[in-house]
Amino acid sequence: MNDDRPLHVLIAGGGLAGLATAQGLLRSGHTVEVFERDVDLDRKQGYYLHFNAIGGEALRRVLPDDLFELYLETSRESYDRPESIVLDNQFNELSSRPHMGPPNTGPRAHTGVHRRTLRQVLSGRLGDRLHVGAPVVSYDQDADGVTVTLADGRTARGDVLVGADGIRSAVRGQLFPDVPVVATGIKGIGVYGRTPLTPELDELMPDILNQGVLMAVDRKGSRLLIATFRPRRAADEAAAEIAPDVHLDPESGYVMISCSVTPGTVVPPTREWTAETPGLMQESMLAAVEGWHPAAQALVAGMDPDSIFMIPFGFIEPKESWEPSRVTIVGDAAHGMLPTLGMGANLSLNDAALLVEQLDRVARGEAQLIEAIGGYEQQMRETAYPILRMTLDHDKNFGGGGLAKASQEPATS
Ligand SMILES: Cc1cc2nc3c(=O)[nH]c(=O)nc-3n(C[C@H](O)[C@H](O)[C@H](O)COP(=O)(O)OP(=O)(O)OC[C@H]3O[C@@H](n4cnc5c(N)ncnc54)[C@H](O)[C@@H]3O)c2cc1C
Repeated sequence: MNDDRPLHVLIAGGGLAGLATAQGLLRSGHTVEVFERDVDLDRKQGYYLHFNAIGGEALRRVLPDDLFELYLETSRESYDRPESIVLDNQFNELSSRPHMGPPNTGPRAHTGVHRRTLRQVLSGRLGDRLHVGAPVVSYDQDADGVTVTLADGRTARGDVLVGADGIRSAVRGQLFPDVPVVATGIKGIGVYGRTPLTPELDELMPDILNQGVLMAVDRKGSRLLIATFRPRRAADEAAAEIAPDVHLDPESGYVMISCSVTPGTVVPPTREWTAETPGLMQESMLAAVEGWHPAAQALVAGMDPDSIFMIPFGFIEPKESWEPSRVTIVGDAAHGMLPTLGMGANLSLNDAALLVEQLDRVARGEAQLIEAIGGYEQQMRETAYPILRMTLDHDKNFGGGGLAKASQEPATS
């Protein structure tokens, strides 16, 4: 097999890992097609994304210079304290521990981004290489290439297929039908939303709320996760100056919160939410923080109802090793983990950078294709698996998820 040429790479999933892989491959002269299940890139999946140097450096490796500059300019300056801080319900500090991973230091030290802004940066200039409303359902590989089949029956042919289709990956489901998704429900936290940073709210918020990613707890078991996002520059203004051909929605700051609901409150799965559900969740969250610091009440009361959503937590129990092929997996498809250490996106972007570097070796004639994919998979397992395991321990002590191994979903539900 002579693969000493740019590759044509099919990517299932237009999330962070898939888009970053596409950007890196295009930068290196390969060609790509990205197939995204959703009809747009607006799915509610969270707001503020905490980044360390694993994610920040990966972005530098895959993005063209101006898009990396756009990422930096729309990021949040580093918090004064690079720590996860635990508070009581009056916002007195109880404990803290350093964030996992090295911080993004340097002249524009940064600690996080707005997820939608990053996704828009990452989809910049992909144009019609990004197919939305195009779920991948299966693939077929042979000695010369791989063919994917979409839900509407269309097919596409490439040299490599990258499964970047998230924790319930269809690609992984076919590759490794025996890898289960362990659903942990939403004990503790799991209902998310965001509260606009009005001057009145700013006034009420004690300074510590601006210093890091915080979890406030009370003796009844209620929890409130707080992350204040103040971008260096409004996203649309930064795009207009740095990369005018890239559209970024305006975004100028908010407080992301995730709050417990009161015991007995039923949080329906997203597909069953009605127009009333966000209001009911908000009422229950307000009851959960009754008697807390006035800023806690204000943060919950001020949530934008349209921003409220639930996300069921889960993780996968990945395979230890396997024979490489033309089909590989990146991001949550490879190592979906509980979000409590803020590492999943960082590692997903790192996968993208590692895979691009390995495929570049093929194009330069330094490695055979399957050998290079195997090299990526080995690096990915060595980097991500130990952290996946740590998130399980971490979750027992801090934050969301609640490690109730309540149910095991089938691999691709
Ligand atoms: C609430 C929350 C907060 C988090 N906070 C952080 C944080 O602060 N820092 C951090 O590092 N990580 C964080 N994470 C983890 C992070 O969000 C994930 O690790 C990251 O989004 C994984 O990226 P991905 O591209 O692999 O998967 P996803 O972002 O899930 O993207 C997968 C994409 O594939 C698409 N797709 C699914 N099936 C198909 C199919 N069959 N065909 C085509 N497309 C398909 C989906 O629509 C989606 O767009 C958080 C996670 C959650 C839930």
